[in-house]
Amino acid sequence: MLLEIRDIHVHYGKIAALKGVSVDVDEGEIVTLIGANGAGKSTTLKTISGLRPLSSGRIVFGGRNISKVAGHKRVLMGIGQAPEGRGIFPGMTVTENLFMGAYARKGNVEKDLKEVFDLFPRLAERKDQAGGTMSGGEQQMLAIGRALMTQPKVLLLDEPSMGLAPKLIQQIFSIIQEINRRGTTVLLVEQNAQQALQIAHRAYVLETGAVVKSAPAGELLDDPQVRAAYLGGG
Ligand code: ATP
Repeated sequence: MLLEIRDIHVHYGKIAALKGVSVDVDEGEIVTLIGANGAGKSTTLKTISGLRPLSSGRIVFGGRNISKVAGHKRVLMGIGQAPEGRGIFPGMTVTENLFMGAYARKGNVEKDLKEVFDLFPRLAERKDQAGGTMSGGEQQMLAIGRALMTQPKVLLLDEPSMGLAPKLIQQIFSIIQEINRRGTTVLLVEQNAQQALQIAHRAYVLETGAVVKSAPAGELLDDPQVRAAYLGGG
């Protein structure tokens, strides 16, 4: 198993946001976490990347317990995150933003830059434009591209479709699939459960800080309860 999340509890002050979440991500998979607002999806990703501390439980990555490893070291170990709200550097150009993703690592950065431009031709067209003047969808692409520049073994994506026009949502999901086909494992958090389940191999349903269901994604697409609660139909 590439990533094992075992019975994690996470608090914001006295509020328990995660009450014993366990999730497995195997190498090569796209795994998605779905659930209503406030279910704990973002908190799970933030805890994996080291932005939130664990109250209890553990996170094992590549066989190593990383529960106490600092966030920047987790990036170097291969945990890449494109955060919710994007978090790009608005005053830097597209290319500079992408280079920021690679500043702490070794290896052939130009080759990875070419690969990101290949995945996102829109970023290549706008490589000298300031990040902050890019559209919402373009900034989302930039955030994913920057995370790819860290050469992640697992890419954590928090609501990549948020705020995007339907046509762009399609595009982002097919790019995520392509990233996965090229060898990167993906853990995807999405409100857009329908689309997420269509591209994922397996899925977990979170409710108020706990996993209530996990199954192959295709099964959840046909699950009457999941359909009623998250897919807008019976
Ligand atoms: P959404 O889809 O709305 O982003 P989510 O499933 O990602 O929801 P989280 O953002 O992980 O949910 O939130 C889980 C719980 O933790 C919620 O009850 C939320 O109010 C709480 N929470 C999240 N961030 C904070 C914070 N910075 N301070 C206090 N409580 C927080």
